[in-house]
Amino acid sequence: LVRLTKVNKSFGDHQVLFDIDLDVHAGEVVVLLGASGSGKSTLCRCVNRLETIDSGSITLDGVPLPAEGRELARLRAQVGMVFQSFNLFGHKSVLENITLAPVRVNGVPREQAVERARELLARVGLAEKADAYPAELSGGQQQRVAIARALAMGPRLLLFDEPTSALDPEMIKEVLDVMVELAAEGMTMLVVTHEMGFARRAADRIVFLDQGRILETGTPQEFFGAPQTERARDFLSKIL
Ligand code: ATP
Ligand code: MG
Repeated sequence: LVRLTKVNKSFGDHQVLFDIDLDVHAGEVVVLLGASGSGKSTLCRCVNRLETIDSGSITLDGVPLPAEGRELARLRAQVGMVFQSFNLFGHKSVLENITLAPVRVNGVPREQAVERARELLARVGLAEKADAYPAELSGGQQQRVAIARALAMGPRLLLFDEPTSALDPEMIKEVLDVMVELAAEGMTMLVVTHEMGFARRAADRIVFLDQGRILETGTPQEFFGAPQTERARDFLSKIL
């Protein structure tokens, strides 16, 4: 579905990604692991073109990511992103947060968008919160609204960048449960997380980034059971 080929990315003279080759197939869940500063967020942001790349290519279904305009808006609809901070519109209700982009960007009729939003809210366990405002919700609830909002666009790929790291422990599970369910339903996902339980359970593949390079890629059993590099062993010894 998504293919990165020899992707390089620098900020000024600081190179952050080096010759990244990565395929994410339809229905696959890929978990990106790596120490702070290894380039995980930057990689995700390149995939929905929040960042431009310096060289190499990123394609969605074989088509290079568009640079601007309507094509870019369409890409963002296809590649949803859920961030650490929930990024909801504070002055809009939950329902408005979810229906805004489908109506404005995808041109979905309002009643249809509302109906779909209610379905998605039910799916993330928040059917009764449609008319609440973000400030009235817990962090875990806000993050589930953010996931519903991403799903409302009918994305083909969802990017998650540490979706639970801003949450209190008791709220982490409710968000991970939604993600596990999405994975089981066949959603294609690229996930940056420090939740190793999720990585073991839900990932089809682990990709380990170190200083902007992919050092290892393998199944969770391979990566956690028998990491191939000293860097990966070191990383695992610090987080497990
Ligand atoms: P963390 O686990 O802390 O979130 P990360 O693996 O997501 O780390 P990135 O956020 O991708 O790492 O950052 C990789 C490197 O790129 C870091 O050295 C960071 O300082 C740098 N960097 C990221 N964004 C920018 C930017 N907009 N301008 C300049 N440098 C940046
Ligand atoms: Mg990051």
